[in-house]
Amino acid sequence: MYELLVSKWDEIIDKLINEYGVSGVSLKSWILPLKLHSVEGNTVNIIFNGENADFSITIITKKYATLFKIIIEEITGIEFDIRILSPSTSGAIVEVPEVVDNFTPRLESSRLNPKYDFDSFIVGYNNNLAYAAALAVAESPGNNWNPLFIYGGVGLGKTHLLQAIGTFIIKNNPNLKVLYTPSETFTNEVIDILRGGNKDNSAISNFRDKYRNIDVFLVDDIQFIIGKDRTQEEFFHTFNTLYLDGKQIVITSDKPPKEMATLDNRFRTRFSEGITVDIQSPDYETRMAILKLNAEHMNYHIDELILKYIADNIKSNIRELEGALNKIVLYSKMKPDHEITLEVAQEALKDVISPVTDSTINIDYIVKTVADHFNISESDIYGSRKTKDIAFARQICMYLCFNYVKCTYEEISISLNRKDHSTAHYAVKKINNLITTDPIVKDTVDILKKKLNK
Ligand code: ADP
Ligand code: MG
Repeated sequence: MYELLVSKWDEIIDKLINEYGVSGVSLKSWILPLKLHSVEGNTVNIIFNGENADFSITIITKKYATLFKIIIEEITGIEFDIRILSPSTSGAIVEVPEVVDNFTPRLESSRLNPKYDFDSFIVGYNNNLAYAAALAVAESPGNNWNPLFIYGGVGLGKTHLLQAIGTFIIKNNPNLKVLYTPSETFTNEVIDILRGGNKDNSAISNFRDKYRNIDVFLVDDIQFIIGKDRTQEEFFHTFNTLYLDGKQIVITSDKPPKEMATLDNRFRTRFSEGITVDIQSPDYETRMAILKLNAEHMNYHIDELILKYIADNIKSNIRELEGALNKIVLYSKMKPDHEITLEVAQEALKDVISPVTDSTINIDYIVKTVADHFNISESDIYGSRKTKDIAFARQICMYLCFNYVKCTYEEISISLNRKDHSTAHYAVKKINNLITTDPIVKDTVDILKKKLNK
C-alpha cells in the first residue's frame, strides 16, 4: 500500500492544488513540506518538514487532513485515517523495523509506470493472445518466447501490456533488472552520443552498460528505430548481446515484422525465433468493460446508458474511449447539478463523434430525429418510461432502425436498452401493420423518413 501511495503522491498533491484550489502561501508553507512517511494499518502517516512544526501541524490537521482523506480515497478506493507528524515524533513510529523492499527504487530505474499492470488490463477477443503471451513471459522471463513481439494500432494497449510485463517481473523477481525504453528515448540517446563525436568514449560505454546489463528489455514502438541507420545498428548490437545471454526481450510495434519494409534481415531472422502476437480493435463487450473499470477508478457512478453511448460511438481506440469518459466527467462538473446525463455526454463528445452525414444514418441519429419530432427527450427513448407517446416513439425508432440501418433485432434492442430482441421484433411488426391500416401512422413515418434523408 505504501508503494502505491508513493507512486500516487504527486497525483494526490496535484488534486489538492487543482481540484481543491490550494495555492500561494498555504501551498508553500503547509502542503509542499509534507512527505509521505508510512502506512500503518489504516493510517497514513505524513511528515511535516517545515517551520514551526507544532503550530503548523495543528493547522494542517484541521484544514487539510480531511481533504487528504477524501483524495486518497478517490485515488485508491480505500478509506484511511490521516496523521500529520513532525520529524521528531515520527521517529517513534519507525521503531517497527521497515521491511527492506527494493520495489520502489527498482521501479524508478526501470522507467515503468506501475499504473499499467495486468490487473487493470481487460482481456477480450481482440487481445487475449497478446495477453496470454505477455503473462507467460512475465511469469518466466527468458524461458518462453524470446523475443515477444506485440503489434497493433494506436491506443490499443501495447504500451500497457508491455509495462505490465515489467511491473509484474519487478514485483515477483527481486533479482531481475528491468528496463522499459520508448524508442524515442533510445534514439535520442544514440543521437546524443553521435553528437558528442568519437572522443566521448565514456558516453558510449555508459550507454552500453545501461542497455546491456539488464535482464528484461522492453522496447516500445520499435517502428521509430527501424530505418534510422545508426540507431538501428546500435539497437541490433544491444538486442544481440541480450538475446545471446538468454535475456528476455519484448518489443511493440504498429505493424508486424513482415510489413516493416526497412527492417534489417538480421532482425527478421531473430524475430521469427520468438513469437509475434497482435492486438485488434476492442469489441463492444471489451469497450464496455474498459469504460466500467475506468469509471470505477475515477470513483464515479455513470449510468449504463451513457457508457453504452460512448461504447457505441467510439470503437477503434481505447485511448479515445478513456478520453471521452474523462471529457464527459469534466463537462458534468461545469453543470450546476454536476449530473452526468446523456445530453451532457452528447454535448461533451460533439467534436469527437463525427456528425452524421446524409449517407450515414445511424441509430443515434434516428433516435435524435424521432425524439425531436415527438418533442420528447432522447433519454426517454433509451429509458424505461412506458407512457403511450413514448412507447410509440420508441417503436417507430425501432422500425426505422430496422429499415434504415439494417440492424438485427438484437442490435436494435441492445442499442435502445431493451431487454431482448423480441421487443424490437414486435415493434417492427406492429408499425408495419399500422402503416397499412392507419393513415396517420403512415404519414408520420413518411415525414420522419424525409427528415432522416434531409
Ligand atoms: P498503445 O501503446 O497501443 O498506443 P496504450 O497501451 O497506451 O496503447 O493504451 C491506451 C490507453 O488505453 C491506456 O490508458 C491503457 O491503459 C488503456 N488500455 C488499453 N488497452 C486496455 C485494456 N485491454 N484494458 C484496460 N485499459 C486498456
Ligand atoms: Mg504505446
